Amino acid sequence: MSKFLVNKYKALEPYTPGEQPRERKYLKLNTNESPFPPSEKAIALAAEEAKRLMLYSDPECKELSAKMAETLGVKTENVILTNGSDEVLNFAFMAYCDENTPAVFPDITYGFYKVFAAVNALPYKEIPLLSDFSMPTDALLLEKGTLFIANPNAPTGLLLPLSEIERLVASDPSRIVVVDEAYIDFGGESAVSLISKYDNLLVTGTFSKSRSMAGARLGFGVGSPALIADLHRIRYSTNPYNVNRMTAAAGIGALSDPEYFEENCKKIIEARAYAVEALASLGFTMTDSKANFLFARHEKIGGAELYAALREKGVLVRHFGAERIKDYNRITVGSMAEMQTLVKLIKEILEEKL
Ligand code: PMP
Repeated sequence: MSKFLVNKYKALEPYTPGEQPRERKYLKLNTNESPFPPSEKAIALAAEEAKRLMLYSDPECKELSAKMAETLGVKTENVILTNGSDEVLNFAFMAYCDENTPAVFPDITYGFYKVFAAVNALPYKEIPLLSDFSMPTDALLLEKGTLFIANPNAPTGLLLPLSEIERLVASDPSRIVVVDEAYIDFGGESAVSLISKYDNLLVTGTFSKSRSMAGARLGFGVGSPALIADLHRIRYSTNPYNVNRMTAAAGIGALSDPEYFEENCKKIIEARAYAVEALASLGFTMTDSKANFLFARHEKIGGAELYAALREKGVLVRHFGAERIKDYNRITVGSMAEMQTLVKLIKEILEEKL
């Protein structure tokens, strides 16, 4: 830290992204990326667009917004495109929280929410998940602040049914509910269908997981035209060219290839079912994840210990040190072959340790 950094950032604890190591080739099951390449259509359109990189991107992101709206069954004024969904989430913290309206989220959820609150100097309140990690919906109903709900939640993978999301949204029309659907395509029902009914609902999504485009940084928000206008106001005040040309082109390509998207989601769901069964037979306990990751613990080996043993064998998973979840690891669901490798290596580790 330099002596010039202003006081308000001195105590800021930045988000710790999952490791992206370069020194060795790991089987990367730590940041919930897709094991499959982007759609050929996305690659071709991005490559073509590279020829026009001397020009700024379209600040209105017109073509992609139209395609996104069509895909979601909404209008373009219901959609904003952003640099990953992290950006739209940050915009939502900026737009809908202040000293009188804290951000409210579960104690165990996406770690960035706390950082978005901190970097914007916003108060926040954490509501404990229930003992089985399920969402404390009744406690959340009583909160007056802006709710941030990852659905499915991370790192537990647990899904709230759409009816429960609706209960939260409908219970207090004066409260904004932000539903972060980064993992919705792996078995959940999206709350986008509710946005025409409720003007206090903002749904966010990403191309990073189910659409194999984590490196392109493309996310989106869906809500009433008024909410979306709020977010554009912040976007135009920070970075109007937030979605670059190649990414916008790749996004259009990805949305033009629904068969590939559906096929990949299906493959992940199948690999997840295989991994759940195989790990359960090795003695693991897991949450009922509807995301592209598993949240798993074993009676006989600690979370940190398994993480280290897997790393030694060339597999990266994600371990969080927080007290309530330190016995667990979050393991990205990759291809079937990757899950078979994982299971084989875990079997070896258990044999070596026990
Ligand atoms: N929400 C959740 C719950 C996530 O796990 C992630 C991925 N780290 C994001 C949002 C942000 O993803 P991206 O910025 O790549 O869209």
